[in-house]
Parts: sequence; structure tokens; C-alpha cells
Amino acid sequence: MFNKILIANRGEIALRVLRACKELGIETVAVHSTADANAMHVRLADESVCIGPPPARDSYLNIPSLLAACEITGAEAVHPGYGFLSENARFADILSAHNIAFIGPSAEHIRIMGDKIEAKNTARRLGIPVVPGSDGAVTTDEDAMRIAAEIGYPVLVKAAAGGGGRGMRVAMTEDEMSSALSAARSEAKNAFGDDSVYIEKYLLKPRHIEIQVLGDGKGNAIHLGERDCSLQRRHQKVWEEALSPALNQEQRDRIGGIVADAMAELKYSGVGTIEFLYEDGEFYFIEMNTRLQVEHPVTEMITGIDLVNEQIKVASGASLTIRQSDVTFNGHAIECRINAENPATFAPSPGKITYWHPPGGLGVRVDSGVYQGYNIPPHYDSLIGKLIVHGRTRVECMMRLRRCLDEFVVDGIQSTIPLFRHLVDNQDIANGMYDIHWLEKWLATDPFQA
Ligand code: ADP
Repeated sequence: MFNKILIANRGEIALRVLRACKELGIETVAVHSTADANAMHVRLADESVCIGPPPARDSYLNIPSLLAACEITGAEAVHPGYGFLSENARFADILSAHNIAFIGPSAEHIRIMGDKIEAKNTARRLGIPVVPGSDGAVTTDEDAMRIAAEIGYPVLVKAAAGGGGRGMRVAMTEDEMSSALSAARSEAKNAFGDDSVYIEKYLLKPRHIEIQVLGDGKGNAIHLGERDCSLQRRHQKVWEEALSPALNQEQRDRIGGIVADAMAELKYSGVGTIEFLYEDGEFYFIEMNTRLQVEHPVTEMITGIDLVNEQIKVASGASLTIRQSDVTFNGHAIECRINAENPATFAPSPGKITYWHPPGGLGVRVDSGVYQGYNIPPHYDSLIGKLIVHGRTRVECMMRLRRCLDEFVVDGIQSTIPLFRHLVDNQDIANGMYDIHWLEKWLATDPFQA
């Protein structure tokens, strides 16, 4: 086991990782930009190193600074959290060249899954169902038209190097195809410096359902059920739950089994998430995230398994000790992402938190790096905390969530808490009847005008 881990992140996820390290008896090193000198992850870590000025490219993405911090402190491993360098294969390679462990999968697996076309081909080869589409990048408009006609409209033109919902265009009919191609290509060129695109069938009312996996890199892998992350705004998840209100146990066992077998065959190491769109009883792979996800706590709440603890153990070379038959799903969990944003316009709202009163009680978990008097810097994403609530049933979970949202007080800045107070009272949400477009359609009705 490692003696000392450097946490190459900030905010709630840096704290989350720090907690797992402490419970394993591992010393922790926090890194921070000058804007984060007063952050909670810095206060709670055993040691801390300032790695640069506020912009992320000069601090949290600054590989030479991070290496120097490892060297100065003698850290043997780096946990990247999510975002920043968590899916950067080059970073994983550089660490290994310096004999520092990267707490995550192999650089090769990060690379494969980071290229959307290669990821899809790999998934297909491993027996995972994928969205119908072009086998690889489409080069000419004529090829694109022919493939789209074969798949059937509507289709989605997607950037091979895509991420964050950029470089994607829908063509409802053949007439819209050439403008969708040129728009997706130019957006991809600007955002990723690579204009290759591919084509997929566009699903009209899918849910976003993702499977959590855990592997030890030695051919052992298990799945920990699914999360339903269909409530999204601009392809950003807002509310996540486990298990999905749309699946039954047989469907869960089937898709979970396929994914776990695929990860065992790949000799995947660490935690990972296989994302699917789900429509009319069918699953369609869209991508794999080779890291811990923001929404991992809902899975922890229903399985009782500490994902970060397991991630650290397998990264240190341990074999998986949990078998598939050990994994059981207990009750229901929902996570709300609390952002420092105006709940109606989603405009960022950085600044000083003058009052902070998080909810508590049975089945309630608040993962957050903020505190009363904390000044939210404007340089990073707006997530200030996650409210995760567990109940024996989905109904109990929703009742508890409503109670928690009533208790939660954040003053001095605006937050998305009022959005969740609306959602928890909505009949479609109560019925679990929502797809990936539901939230945007509901927001278009201007629910905050009253
Ligand atoms: P990114 O990596 O940019 O986030 P993804 O491939 O994960 O891109 O897709 C992001 C979101 O776009 C999905 O969660 C879903 O809402 C939508 N999407 C992606 N592919 C399709 C598709 N074939 N049909 C309908 N919606 C899609």
C-alpha cells in the first residue's frame, strides 16, 4: 500500500479523496493555486504545496509543478480526481516514467477510450451494444450522405475528438446534412484542433444510463449497477439517481454482466463508467469515462462500497476482493449538484458564502469543500457541493430529499438549490418519467417567473 498520496485536484473531490486516504492510514499532500490557499482540502491535508497562479492551465494542469510537488513531498502516487488531468494519458505516462503511480487505469486504456471512434470500435469488439452509425470517421459529404441514408434520419454528426457536448449537430433530414457536417467540422476544428467527424443514429427520447465498473487490471472486474443521469442541461448532469427508475433487475443483470465481462477481458484497472443511451428497452454505448465520476456517491449509498478506497487499493497492486455475488443494491439514492449559479439563468455566482447550513440526519450525505466565510473563486467550475440522499425506497428518498432541501441554507451567493425544490415536487420526476430532453423542455416553460 502507498504511504503518501498527492491529490491533484481541488474542491469537493479533493476532500473526498483525502477522506478515503485518511481512513486507509495514508498520508496526504494537497496542491493548490494561489486562489485556493484557504481551501478546505489544503487545511485538512497533512502537507500542501502551492503549484501556481489561479488559471488552471498554470496550476492544476501544470504537469512540471505537480511532478515537483511529488518530488518535494515524497508522494508515491497521484490521485487525479475528475476533470483536470484525470483522463490525460500523457500525464499517466510521465508519472510512470518517474516511478509515481497514477491512481487510475493504464495510459493505453485512457488513450483508447479518449478517442470516440476507437472507444466505439473497442466496445463493439468486446460485445457491448453501440449506437448504429458509421464505422469510423466520414471523409466526404457524399460518404456521409450515403451512410446517413443507410442508418435512417435523424442522425447526429459528432466530433471524433469531442467532449463536453461540443462538435455535435443533429440532421433531422437529408436537407440538413451538409450544414450539420460543416458546422460540426468547424466547431471540432476550433475546439479540438481536429475536424474528423462520424455519424450516429440520433435517438429522440433516450435516457442516459451508465454502468459503474471496478477492475483490478488482472482480469477481475465487477459492475456496481447503474446510475440514471437523464436530467441534464446542455449535456451537463444536474440530478443523478441509482438505481434507474426505468430498469428492472433482469435488464440490470444483463447489461451489467456484459459490461463486467468486457472490462475483465480488457484487463481494465480501477473505476470506470460505461455510458449508454437507453431507449425502448435497448442500450447504446456512447462513451467510457476512465476515472471517478462526480455522481459516484449514489452508487456508494446503495452498495455500501467505498469506490475511492477500492480505486486506491487496486492502483497499489491489490487484487479485487469483492465478487459480483457480494454486490447487493439497497434502497434508492439521489444526488443533486449544488452549483454557485443563478437557478433560473445558470449564470455563475462566485463570491463570499456568508451563511452555510447543510442538512443532516439519517441517509444524508453532503460532499462539499466550502464553509461559512469561504470565498468562491471565479476561476473554476461552479460546483460547490453535492447533496446525496438515501432512502429504503424511491418514495422515501424523495421525501427525505424534500426535507433536506428545506433545511439547506446558503447565503451570500446564489445557488441551484431552488431548482431542486421545484424538481422534487414535479409529478414527472416523482413518477420517474423523464428522458434526456425533459429538463431543457421544462426550463423552457420558465418555471421561475412566479
Ligand atoms: P460528450 O463527450 O461531448 O459529452 P457524449 O457522446 O457523451 O459527448 O454525448 C453527450 C450527450 O449528448 C449525451 O448524454 C446525450 O444527451 C447526447 N447524445 C449523444 N449521442 C446521442 C445520440 N446518438 N442520440 C441522441 N442524443 C445523443
